[in-house]
Amino acid sequence: MRVVCLDLEGVLVPEIWISVAEATNVKELNLTTRDIPDYHELMKTRLGILKEHRITLPIITGVIAEMKPLEGARDFLDSLREQIQVIILSDTFQEFARPLMRRLDWPTLFCNSLEVDDSGNITGYRLRQEDGKREAVRALSSMNLTVYAAGDSWNDLTMIQEAHRGAFFRPPRSIVEANPTVPVCWDYGELSRFLLDGE
Ligand SMILES: [Mg+2]
Repeated sequence: MRVVCLDLEGVLVPEIWISVAEATNVKELNLTTRDIPDYHELMKTRLGILKEHRITLPIITGVIAEMKPLEGARDFLDSLREQIQVIILSDTFQEFARPLMRRLDWPTLFCNSLEVDDSGNITGYRLRQEDGKREAVRALSSMNLTVYAAGDSWNDLTMIQEAHRGAFFRPPRSIVEANPTVPVCWDYGELSRFLLDGE
């Protein structure tokens, strides 16, 4: 039996931090793992920027509430979930994801969580586990499942490598050049065919 693991941001919804950067006009929040590859360092930098600009969790969730899935994402996911079990593996936070999950009809999501004080300030974060995407694939494989995975960026690489088959979806050029053997899908039709191949 096959299960599909999908990344969230860049595959089904826009990049949350970039949307927050645009809505709050705080450009430093545009930083991604492409700029600071170490996730903990990136998050430390982001939390410092939030504090400096007094951007609280309610402000961020207000931005996210206005976000919509990428065009075609809901139809793609609905159709996929009719045919196969799908789990979304994301480095985002539960507190951010809820409004977007509603718009995607509540698919299964494994992600991280935030530490928030009584005033709504984000004071820290808790990873479900280190390298959680890869560990999830490993655990699913141990349940005798065949895992197919897809994601758009560097933080998906270990998940894709750990999966029985994996592909990039609309990745940046740099990651394709660095990983020329990983298949690449550019639209939802192509991605569906890849994930359902042979089913
Ligand atoms: Mg992504």
